[in-house]
Amino acid sequence: MKCLHVNYAIPCTKPFTCKENYAIVFDTHIIDFGPKELITKRYPNAKNIISKGQSVLLPGLINPHVHLEFSANQGVLDFGDFIPWLQSVIKHRDELQKAISSEKILNTLTSMLASGTTAIGAVSSFGLDLDACLKTPLHVTYFTEILGSRPDAVDILFNDFKSRLNSVLKSANKSFSPAISIHSPYSTHPILAQNALDIARKDDLCVSTHFMESQAEREWLDSASGGFKEFFNAFSPYAKPFCNAKGYLSLFENNHTLFTHAVQAKKSELEYIKYQGGFITHCPVSNRVLGCGLLDINRLNQMQISWHLGTDGLSSNISLSLWDEMRNALMMHQNFPLKELAKELLMGATANAAKALRLNAGSLEIGKEATFLILDLPGASLSNLPLHAILHTKKPQSIYIQGEKIDV
Ligand SMILES: [Zn+2]
Repeated sequence: MKCLHVNYAIPCTKPFTCKENYAIVFDTHIIDFGPKELITKRYPNAKNIISKGQSVLLPGLINPHVHLEFSANQGVLDFGDFIPWLQSVIKHRDELQKAISSEKILNTLTSMLASGTTAIGAVSSFGLDLDACLKTPLHVTYFTEILGSRPDAVDILFNDFKSRLNSVLKSANKSFSPAISIHSPYSTHPILAQNALDIARKDDLCVSTHFMESQAEREWLDSASGGFKEFFNAFSPYAKPFCNAKGYLSLFENNHTLFTHAVQAKKSELEYIKYQGGFITHCPVSNRVLGCGLLDINRLNQMQISWHLGTDGLSSNISLSLWDEMRNALMMHQNFPLKELAKELLMGATANAAKALRLNAGSLEIGKEATFLILDLPGASLSNLPLHAILHTKKPQSIYIQGEKIDV
């Protein structure tokens, strides 16, 4: 049993508060958490660890939406507008796949860990990231993805998905949780989506889907018009949307689902997501670089819909660090009071993300996994802690996963 002493702590519990002169007692899980004097008296035999500098303790960061297989992108894909970007993904997909390897993905995961990310949701299109995800010390929720629009190829596509999923299911362990991703309403035939969602319900797997990311997706689903009309016409002059947005959402009614982006979602669609107990993954940098707009987090808060942060892949970002994502989000949501936004973002990168991925982590509470970070923040004070942490942190001083200090 260890007892770690810190100057400050951000427990990421509700209501959001920051603590001064606190200590945490833990083995693989958190045994106790409270003011130093109290904890020292309660656990006289615990092995004491005194952290250096102006220390700040907070839960490990959780990034529920990343595409590791696209980690080789560095300036190859066309940023700025959604459809030209999608066309560039299709054009360069093989080249980006060839440029990636298990070793490179493992390096990507190691640098994510070094930045303080201790759990991820990895959306896997091809299975190229499986080896690395099984080797990393991070907790991985591994979303095996299904997509495809040709009705005559449904059986082949579903069989391919099932064989990828079966090898993933065999690998499940305490830090690797199989899950399912339905790519999007514009790319996945409803029969494929329905069949995959049936498996997710039967096996109680988390589900992720992109939903209402771009204006082009909005126009295509609403009226078979806009940028996707031209895009799909290149494949078939008779192409039409499989269903409207509500019809797509209805497929997920009995699943545990993370809806990624939702920038262009209407209020009634958000209400339906709330009714389903769904979660929204907010990827502000990805949305900005693909010209998709900015998610209205005020509206989500008013509607009491749970949202969390994600970086998306390097296919639509330049960093997989949640500190970078939080800093960018601070600058983008200009109508939100800055200090309050900092608290919301920290919750979105920890406790809210843990809830979405069903992890027993993401907050400093008795019984949760002892997975946390220690920052060194010179000049920190109780009043500026969340904002200061986001503005100044590149890497934590120390990282613990399930009670073990990790060297990165
Ligand atoms: Zn994505």
